[in-house]
Amino acid sequence: MRLILLGPPGAGKGTQSAKIAERYGVPQLSTGDMLRAAVAAGTPVGLKAKAVMEAGGLVSDDIVVGIVADRIEEPDAKNGFILDGFPRTVAQADALEAMLRTKGITLDAVVEFLVDEDALVERIATRACETKARGEPVRKDDNPEVFKARLAAYKEQTAPLSAHYAGKGKLKTVDGMKPIEAVTADVFKILGG
Ligand code: AMP
Repeated sequence: MRLILLGPPGAGKGTQSAKIAERYGVPQLSTGDMLRAAVAAGTPVGLKAKAVMEAGGLVSDDIVVGIVADRIEEPDAKNGFILDGFPRTVAQADALEAMLRTKGITLDAVVEFLVDEDALVERIATRACETKARGEPVRKDDNPEVFKARLAAYKEQTAPLSAHYAGKGKLKTVDGMKPIEAVTADVFKILGG
């Protein structure tokens, strides 16, 4: 199973990709998680990405494509992966396609979560509260101001991917406003169970 999950910040990509990864026994590859780990470790990539991420912008295509190219070479990604948060630009999508072509593999589907934008701000606030309640550190970009920048970046740079993949016959959409379990059930259904 090789999937891309598409949708604005707070749409549920992380939550659903964990469930899909478990069901199909493939790793969840979140570029956001990888970048946050790089920032925490203070690697050269992390140092370059930190300020952009804190401002809610997009890290450069070169950096992110490099991270993904390395990650999909890992043995656990041999038989598939769920890409969560990548690609986020048409240039990243083109780079991914080139990468997969050289490996002779194709994507099974691109699943887009359709959500009501107004509800997203509330979701992000809830996510921050829940994380805090668990005693875990809250993401620096999970606050209303940075969230607006993330949403703007999504609309400008990532939303065009929907038409991009629809044109390739890969796009499947699900209603991301349903309860978590119902969304998961819908995703499994469109993936063939
Ligand atoms: P996420 O965890 O997917 O919400 O990503 C958190 C932040 O990491 C984003 O707001 C971006 O700054 C950065 N990021 C994650 N994935 C990408 C990507 N594919 N391209 C550029 N920036 C990314």
